[in-house]
Amino acid sequence: MTEPQTTLLLQNAHVLDVVAGEILGDRSVLIRNGRIAEIDHAQRAAPADARVIDLKGLTLMPGLSDAHVHLTAATPDFAALTRWSPSYVAARAGDILEGMLMRGFTTVRDAGGADFGLADAVEEGYLTGPRILFCGHALSQTGGHGDMRARGENSFEGCFCCAGLGVICDGIAEVRRACRNEIRKGARQIKIMASGGVSSPTDRITSTQFSLEEMKAAVEEAEAATIYVMAHAYTARAINRALDCGVRSIEHGNLLDETSVERFLEYGAFLVPTLATYHALAEEGVAVGLPADMHAKIFDVLDAGSRALELAHRSGVKLVYGSDLLGAMHKRQLTEFALRGEIQRPIDVIRAATTNAAELFGMVGEIGVVAPGARADLLAVDGNPLDHLSVLQDPEHRLKLILKDGVVHKSALD
Ligand code: ZN
Ligand code: ZN
Repeated sequence: MTEPQTTLLLQNAHVLDVVAGEILGDRSVLIRNGRIAEIDHAQRAAPADARVIDLKGLTLMPGLSDAHVHLTAATPDFAALTRWSPSYVAARAGDILEGMLMRGFTTVRDAGGADFGLADAVEEGYLTGPRILFCGHALSQTGGHGDMRARGENSFEGCFCCAGLGVICDGIAEVRRACRNEIRKGARQIKIMASGGVSSPTDRITSTQFSLEEMKAAVEEAEAATIYVMAHAYTARAINRALDCGVRSIEHGNLLDETSVERFLEYGAFLVPTLATYHALAEEGVAVGLPADMHAKIFDVLDAGSRALELAHRSGVKLVYGSDLLGAMHKRQLTEFALRGEIQRPIDVIRAATTNAAELFGMVGEIGVVAPGARADLLAVDGNPLDHLSVLQDPEHRLKLILKDGVVHKSALD
């Protein structure tokens, strides 16, 4: 099913060097076996087996990473999702995946829901989409952000196979078992719910979730398998607890403060803000299926998100691009560029979606750079994104070429 690897030669490319933050004019980039083989200063003769693509006037840059997506969240109503057939959910995920690749995302980290089946389907070419770094189910305590039961519902199937985003586990033994089960299925990271959230019916944003011992157990299990833990957390209290337990990335982080910043810097941890989703939910959440009582919770975190990003950026916290969109709101995935661009320089936001993401994922040199040896995940865009991030926000007109692992997924060159 996977397309055969071809040798490609990209000529006349203005290469965006994300590390240096500059454009390198007129390079030719040779791609073999899905990776960048050579980058030359000038025009070079094409190898006999190469397909030549002329990128005159375009900027060549690394494919983007989104470190917080939910590929199976075809609806923002997670309780409804658990009642859908897994095969139906996978079919709906197909459109979400393709949409992301067509926006320029070549790697995404799923924060709950996607599994090895979805990742394999993309890898083998049965579905078109970005590479998926999945966690399987997100771990939640009873009554936590992954518990989708209303107050009057008392039974919980507790299965590990339904299409929901989370699994409930309480106590050290259950947390270990849940981690080991996701690791058994190939999880690239473990996701835990370390505070209350918007889209869960019975918790409050200000709650902390999981005991320190439970979080430490999750970190220990992850590290035993040479992976790491990402944690959903809003308040400084919840963030600080998670970071002290060894969590590597904090998701959202809208209510962080100076004491959290100190810990991010001390531990070398990452922050993955997801501003796009709060704006989307505030504007169209109810219309696209978010229950009204959850809609009210959004405003607890909406404005704080920008202030948190500003403080973290100013303090030098490592920031990674995340969007966290649900259902029909996935089309807003690139608005995160605009929202961050109000606070950071274009190169900072581009690094969040390339080199910083690669560092968080443990994929430095593999993705996020245009360099020999890296995977040929490449975009050619019309315009210079270092001048205007808007260049990246209009893929229909400005994104002319999309390569993933050296395979052409879009070519709109004249
Ligand atoms: Zn979350
Ligand atoms: Zn999420």
